[in-house]
Amino acid sequence: MKTTRREILMFAGGSAVGVLFTPAPWRLITDTALWSESWPGIPKPERGEIRARYTNCSLCAAGCAVRARCVAGRPVSLAGVPGHPLTRGALCAFGLAGHHLPYHPARLKHGPVAQASAAVADGIAKCRPSEHVVTLDLRPGRTASWTYRRAMAALKNGRYVTLSHPLGGPLAVDLAAARTVLSLGVPVLDGWGTPGNVMAARAGFRLIQAEAVESRTASMADLWLRIRPGSEDALAEGLAGMMTPAEAAAITGVPEAQIVAVAGELARNGPVLVLGTSRLASTGHTIVARRETPVPAEWRKAAPVTDLASLPDGSVRVLIIDESAPGEYLPWNAIAGKLVPDNPVMVALASSRDGYGRHAQYVLPVGVYPEVADDIPPAVDSVATTFRIAAPLVAAPEGVVKPEEFVAKAAGLAIGDTLRERADAIHETGRGSLFTYADAKSVAVKDVGAGDFWKALNAGGCWIDTPLAAAAQPPAAAQPPAAAQPPAATQLPAAENPDLPLVVVLSHELAPLSPLLSKMYRESNLRLGPNRAALHPSCGLEDGAQATLKTALGKCAVEVVLDAGVPPGVVQLTAWPAVLDLCGPGLQVGPARAKVVRA
Ligand code: SF4
Repeated sequence: MKTTRREILMFAGGSAVGVLFTPAPWRLITDTALWSESWPGIPKPERGEIRARYTNCSLCAAGCAVRARCVAGRPVSLAGVPGHPLTRGALCAFGLAGHHLPYHPARLKHGPVAQASAAVADGIAKCRPSEHVVTLDLRPGRTASWTYRRAMAALKNGRYVTLSHPLGGPLAVDLAAARTVLSLGVPVLDGWGTPGNVMAARAGFRLIQAEAVESRTASMADLWLRIRPGSEDALAEGLAGMMTPAEAAAITGVPEAQIVAVAGELARNGPVLVLGTSRLASTGHTIVARRETPVPAEWRKAAPVTDLASLPDGSVRVLIIDESAPGEYLPWNAIAGKLVPDNPVMVALASSRDGYGRHAQYVLPVGVYPEVADDIPPAVDSVATTFRIAAPLVAAPEGVVKPEEFVAKAAGLAIGDTLRERADAIHETGRGSLFTYADAKSVAVKDVGAGDFWKALNAGGCWIDTPLAAAAQPPAAAQPPAAAQPPAATQLPAAENPDLPLVVVLSHELAPLSPLLSKMYRESNLRLGPNRAALHPSCGLEDGAQATLKTALGKCAVEVVLDAGVPPGVVQLTAWPAVLDLCGPGLQVGPARAKVVRA
């Protein structure tokens, strides 16, 4: 019998259709999914004992207490610690996913450590009398910060540089004491302070948010004053009577009658707390003084804090930047001019290249939360001085550098177990109490031995100092009412510039810490991604358009996000290192201008 081509094709087609009605292809799909779960390179969860371990989250300065559910010693989920007197059982979304960070695909695990050490030693040796060796610390107040200060004191030309803040260190905010909070663009309800503490105090104060865009805090505030970008100080002065309501209305765009009404409310409904990036005021004791966390007496031989702006241009021969603890970012154009023109040495100690690693000659990898032991300075809204340790939950990969040891070695400073030395110094004062997480109990420090104190701090514990009595507040704590606040240089909205028609408003975001959260935020647009620019729908570009952001300092590629909450003439960007580098020397000098054009 002869088989024709038509019959072969009909047989093949019939077989293909028929096979769909058998279990074979569907079973194959399931099996392929199962097989692919076991391919080489796919991480497999370990099996083993399930138990809870405790630590403190060091992803931001809040330092929330953490209960980690661990399987075979590896954290698989994180939660807050109920009953904690400061963090009150809460974690933010980043903190809940903090244990993902060691697996972030962008993290660095290797770097030229020997070459960087040799270059730093060479730079220190070549330092002329007019030149400096600088350590830039992005999160001051830690035990490592004291090592940097001691190391810089050990060098003839050493300088310890950090960013100055109106709050932090000896001053803190007591939200529970405030009845009205006037926020001048501060994200009070979105990542500012300690989430649990802010939410606990929220019912007790009325929040007036003055901001150019409808941020998450603005949308949750009791009153949102939509002001022109950069007119925060003018509004504060109008409310304080340092300029007439009409003058303030002309600068801020807020109706004069509303300024008068808010000024009346501030006068009636105290104590008032005024929070701004460059301004701070209070009535009553809503800003309080707290003691410095004790340190061993021998550490006091330390370099003072130097303002980078005070160093002459072209005078920094060696610059070491500790980016291991996320903190404020000093834009690159504020740093670049300070470096010597001939072969400066710049080392960034960082977990990724997103920050100063884009500019440094050497980027050395550091451990990340929850791999490394580091202490967390008291949060901005903690009335009491505290000492908490982010105790490691997993081992750091081989090859990461400990920034404290790198800087100390470069300066020839011998250091021991600095965290233990500081814990002993705290214990010696006999002050305050120790709160332990596993049993949620407080015990007076004087009733605990030094060894047990240290052990508890590493197993989930927090030292809480006795707050200074209100009567003992130094003058800085009892600030005059807003109306008597001394005049500050009024920050005016950015000047018109036809070449750069948009005013930049920055939204503050934590770095993408968890790969899962980064992906979720990027895809859902819940948060503005680092490479996105939010514009009013009338801007002439389409949502999702690829565009170029241009400022006076450079340009970068962005994706357009249309958002009716952003006023016309404004571009909202995430305060991300690459964006901050384009937007001026610092947030405190007023908004930058930009334009966004189709790519
Ligand atoms: S607020 Fe900061 S410290 Fe607290 S959980 Fe979130 S990232 Fe961690």
